[in-house]
Amino acid sequence: MSNREAQRFETVCVSESAVGPVHELVEGRDVPISKTNLVNRTLPHRDRRMVGAWCFVDTYGPDAVITMPGMRVPPHPHIGLQTVSWLLEGTIEHRDSLGSLQLVQPGELNLMTAGRGIAHSEESPQARPPQLHGAQLWVALPEHARRVEPRFEHVVDLPRVVLGGLRATVLVGELAGEASPAQVHSPLVGVDLDVVDQGELPLDPAFEHAVVVTRGEVVVDGELLRPGRLLYLGTGRDRLEVSSPSEGRCLLLGGEPFDEEILMWWNFVARSHEEIVEARERWMRELDSGFTGERLQFGAVPGFDGPALAAPALPTSRLRPRGRR
Ligand code: MN
Repeated sequence: MSNREAQRFETVCVSESAVGPVHELVEGRDVPISKTNLVNRTLPHRDRRMVGAWCFVDTYGPDAVITMPGMRVPPHPHIGLQTVSWLLEGTIEHRDSLGSLQLVQPGELNLMTAGRGIAHSEESPQARPPQLHGAQLWVALPEHARRVEPRFEHVVDLPRVVLGGLRATVLVGELAGEASPAQVHSPLVGVDLDVVDQGELPLDPAFEHAVVVTRGEVVVDGELLRPGRLLYLGTGRDRLEVSSPSEGRCLLLGGEPFDEEILMWWNFVARSHEEIVEARERWMRELDSGFTGERLQFGAVPGFDGPALAAPALPTSRLRPRGRR
């Protein structure tokens, strides 16, 4: 996913200290991610920047992609984050500058660690199911891990847990003693929930949590949610009641409150204006040189048919960390 919205403003993410259990409804907004693709973005939001290290939550579809051009996001760079691609329906072809070529499919986790720098593309393959429905999430890397070597993980054998009427798939972290093998760098949890009936989730009270609905209607701690809305639940909960009148589906996201200030601009997660400027210039230099030369930070995406994305212009004002309000 490439963030076009950041062409207009930068986002400084500062999570609040632990607040205890709360209900805070976050309205998502429709955002174009390319000429033909629209997503619903719930994080970052002016009232809620992060949930644990989760700093970006896009959901999309179900969209008909047979008659449309489908998804096409040309090569673009990332630093300082991990991307989680998760599909409910359809397929996406992922390529990256490490040489990975992976068909992203429902029920399988694709976790890309940008670390010090990676470039990737995402597009609907020629032969594809009629619908595309899924989510793309970003995880901010903490200081000690934000310059790690880039890495791409495709995980097929995710732990699955049945809790009453809830069928849970653990994407990252741990639920009810079942841990995902995917590598993350801060205390974090991400779970897909198929809400067949009513059930109760065990939670880590040290984590803050949120739920975002991807299909149908889901009742979380008594609150009825539909797609396009995120319910922030705060910290201090050891369990959560979830049910659905209509076989809904949702994502549970949580983690230890992230105590670092992060600066998000375009597809970069950094800490300072200088770092953003440097990453942008580096990408544009590599793009202009046709990704030739030694010691590329990002590199070409082999096999993608078409040009890479140019970075948007920096705003005239200096990007700087500011408080949440
Ligand atoms: Mn991307």
